[in-house]
Amino acid sequence: MKPEIISQLREIVGKEYVFTEKEDLFCYTYDGSFLFEQPSMPGVVVLPENSREISRIIKLAAACQIPVIPRGAGSNLSGGSVPLAECMIIQMTRMNRIIRIDGRNMIAVVEPGVVTGVFQEELAKQGLFYPPDPASLAFSTMGGNVAECAGGPRGVKYGVTRDYILGLEVVLADGSITRTGASTMKSVAGYDLTRLFTGSEGTLGIITQITVKLLPMPQARQTVLASFPNLDQTAETVVEILSRGMIPSSLELLDQVFIHHIEAFMPSGLPLDAEGILLIEVDGPKNALNDQISEIEKICRDQGAMQIRAASSEDERERLWAARRGAFGAIARNYPTILSEDVTVPRDKIPQAISQVRKIAEAYQLTVAILAHAGDGNFHADILTDEKNSEEMNRVRQALPELFKAALDLGGTITGEHGVGIVKAPFLPWEAGREGMHVMQAVKDALDPQNILNPGKMFGNRRW
Ligand SMILES: Cc1cc2nc3c(=O)[nH]c(=O)nc-3n(C[C@H](O)[C@H](O)[C@H](O)COP(=O)(O)OP(=O)(O)OC[C@H]3O[C@@H](n4cnc5c(N)ncnc54)[C@H](O)[C@@H]3O)c2cc1C
Repeated sequence: MKPEIISQLREIVGKEYVFTEKEDLFCYTYDGSFLFEQPSMPGVVVLPENSREISRIIKLAAACQIPVIPRGAGSNLSGGSVPLAECMIIQMTRMNRIIRIDGRNMIAVVEPGVVTGVFQEELAKQGLFYPPDPASLAFSTMGGNVAECAGGPRGVKYGVTRDYILGLEVVLADGSITRTGASTMKSVAGYDLTRLFTGSEGTLGIITQITVKLLPMPQARQTVLASFPNLDQTAETVVEILSRGMIPSSLELLDQVFIHHIEAFMPSGLPLDAEGILLIEVDGPKNALNDQISEIEKICRDQGAMQIRAASSEDERERLWAARRGAFGAIARNYPTILSEDVTVPRDKIPQAISQVRKIAEAYQLTVAILAHAGDGNFHADILTDEKNSEEMNRVRQALPELFKAALDLGGTITGEHGVGIVKAPFLPWEAGREGMHVMQAVKDALDPQNILNPGKMFGNRRW
């Protein structure tokens, strides 16, 4: 990066917030994803404090045609925040203020660097609730969640990040600052730009302020653990629960590989003899929960559950959910490389999807662990491997397209929540089609004509 650019950045944000040392830059060459290609080193990392500074940074980048990558906690699983060429990383974590919590209007305004779990804890103190709960909520940021449209176990009842975003402040590719949406519960004034920027993975603008809708904290919650002798029955039970009109707040499925790794890592009382378990939570008024739980237990019994256990205390409930959130970490202790895929299918296709995943794993002789936000039809088919084993990595490369194709054939999508980034860029056209890609390219060209915002992500190197 040219010295005159570095000195201008130092002038904008202060010299302690501009990193140029190799040791610092290296930390920004990776994120939560496994990448087949080696990413580049960024030229500089800059940590702004507010949107005015970001506006000046972007004006400088636009004038010099330098690629810019916004970055939150770097936990995404699609290669969204890694550099592909010499670039400027805008690290958003200094912008971590909760600006306003407005319980009368049930909204809050936050900066993008606020950690999602920290925000939720602040809200809980006031009896308020922001439902999106990615398993990464202890470290991922609100900006990263919005840019990826993150989801989580509660999606089955409460939806995903986009369902809570009322408005955004965004710095555009020319450095101008715009506001989208409104602080009201509804607004149809013009195109829905809030939804356009939500899930745009840093390719259309830098999100600098987020207005979210809040809910009252549910009065009570109850969690049930049901275990099954095989995974097909586990999956069929999900369809049965949902088709009987039940709407649990979470409905998670874990296979035996996950159960065993979790128990070895953080013993939580999960049944080791089960091939599949469901972790089911209901919430709402206290006096309505027992009926829901009884109905769900009955469905599980009718479907052949081996064991059904309701958490008897808040501690036990929290232990079960901590086990679920720790699932990825539990596996990561034993496998150096994990490719966490997140194909999603219509909910009644979950059993077929699981059977397809197993066939693909068998055909390519791969170890695949399955964990699903099953209530959403969203699978984490996690391929457990070791990047040093090049022969196995070749089989992984061949298996991935099969997995995406299987999801599309079942009427699903290649990504339910992890985003496209670099990892799924080659496969986006399979889902969006030629015309869809042309529309997306037109939007990108209109908002970022020089292609300086997170270039190479979502579209790969291809122009449509
Ligand atoms: C253990 C683990 C569990 C996970 N569980 C889930 C899960 O349950 N559900 C789920 O959806 N995801 C999950 N993820 C993935 C990841 O945590 C989410 O994608 C999260 O939203 C990323 O947030 P981040 O702050 O780390 O953003 P980053 O990874 O830094 O960035 C993500 C993308 O957003 C862009 N970006 C970041 N900030 C901004 C901004 N202010 N303006 C514009 N663009 C921006 C980046 O350029 C990048 O493209 C998990 C990851 C891990 C490691």
